[in-house]
Amino acid sequence: MVWRNNKMEDLKKLQDDLWDYAETGFKEYKSAEAMCKYLEKKGFEVNRGICNMDTAFDAVYGSGKPVIAILAEYDALDGMSQEADVAEYKPLKDSTTGQGCGHHLLGVGAINAFLELKKIIDEENLEATIKLVGCPAEEAGSGKTYLARDGYFDDVDIALTWHPSNISSVSTGSHQACIQCYFRFKGVSSHAAGSPELGRSALDAVELTNIGVNYLREHIRSDERIHYAITNTGGHAPNVVQAEAEVRYFVRSSTGPRVKKLYERVCNVARGAALMNDTELEIIFDEGLVDIVPNFTLEKVFRDSFIKLGVPKYTEEERAYAKKFKDTYDVDVLLNQTYENVKDVKKLKKNIIESELNDYFVDKDHSDVCYMGSSDVGDVSWVVPTAQINVNCFSYGASGHSWQWVAQGKSSISFKGAIHAGIIIADTARTLIKNPNLIEKAKEELKERLGDQEYECLIPKDVLPHVY
Ligand SMILES: [Zn+2]
Repeated sequence: MVWRNNKMEDLKKLQDDLWDYAETGFKEYKSAEAMCKYLEKKGFEVNRGICNMDTAFDAVYGSGKPVIAILAEYDALDGMSQEADVAEYKPLKDSTTGQGCGHHLLGVGAINAFLELKKIIDEENLEATIKLVGCPAEEAGSGKTYLARDGYFDDVDIALTWHPSNISSVSTGSHQACIQCYFRFKGVSSHAAGSPELGRSALDAVELTNIGVNYLREHIRSDERIHYAITNTGGHAPNVVQAEAEVRYFVRSSTGPRVKKLYERVCNVARGAALMNDTELEIIFDEGLVDIVPNFTLEKVFRDSFIKLGVPKYTEEERAYAKKFKDTYDVDVLLNQTYENVKDVKKLKKNIIESELNDYFVDKDHSDVCYMGSSDVGDVSWVVPTAQINVNCFSYGASGHSWQWVAQGKSSISFKGAIHAGIIIADTARTLIKNPNLIEKAKEELKERLGDQEYECLIPKDVLPHVY
């Protein structure tokens, strides 16, 4: 197997441990500690608890300019519990969380990038400072947003990262800005049959909010998204009028100013619901993150490294493993998905039909378009030129936040993806260090794209990282 040496065995164990811990945003205590310990074992000095976040950390190596940051993640998702290596939906009995977005791989891949880059710097006697940045709470909490807001990247020249995927490509385009909040309603409890006239249902207010927002959907931009989850139903007794209830909202739009306006409209719906049924509303602003600013200069350097180094190779055994998961999807559905910016869609579709998993570099055209979904990488990309790649870690068909991704999160396929991502990031950083003009060009590009817009963090200065 590919990881038959000490470094690889240790990294594989780290991957498995992070998968087992599956800790959600700002609660990644064991995960962050395992990564810090790993880095210390390799001889690095680690700073724990940076920018008021217990589970954020960094390790720094080298000296002088340029300063290159490699971003790591490790948080899991609630509602994504799943047994490993089983090709059917099978939640674990003792856990509700799971690595549904592959952030444990992201963390391991980023660490490998840091180790590989250190090796390159030593061997080639390069001048550069490299930082491995442990960024907590990507899924909810926005660790990177606090880092960007609080000036962590002020001395950084370039930020590089990656995300596990089911194709290998250079990530391009923007992603949505997002505001997350809670609407907490207070009503009056009473006997639902005996004295309903005395009650005021907080749960009704939640439902009225959701209904109002579902009507609002028809009158918003097509690049906007609104999602909710009821976080407190006010109890499980239908014969008690619910005195309290709460719903959590994610509001997304293509830019910071736009998402602020849409958020205000959603808040008005909640205010209207409270007015309608005589309940009290508390709006709890949780967090916000801005859109991603793409950087074609960096994308090109990533592309060159990808073309030079190729993609992971798979054994027959791995292909058979991937097939079990691919078979849980309807291939026609997969073929009808939109493959944005892919240069040769025909080739990709042929590969989807013929192969169990993506086994070639999927070349893409650069794009400025805003795609659905959000990441706190957005805040980083506003303050420092930033780019990311995707590396295949799963079978075809699997998509983020699916049980299939969780189930494949300990496989050798996903490990190969993480290790390969590290190698490509390190090679890209090497090119940048050796060609300072590319770093200047990337900075110029960021400046041009922003024009007269200033970075405005959506989280107010006085809000500290938190878990509600
Ligand atoms: Zn993710």
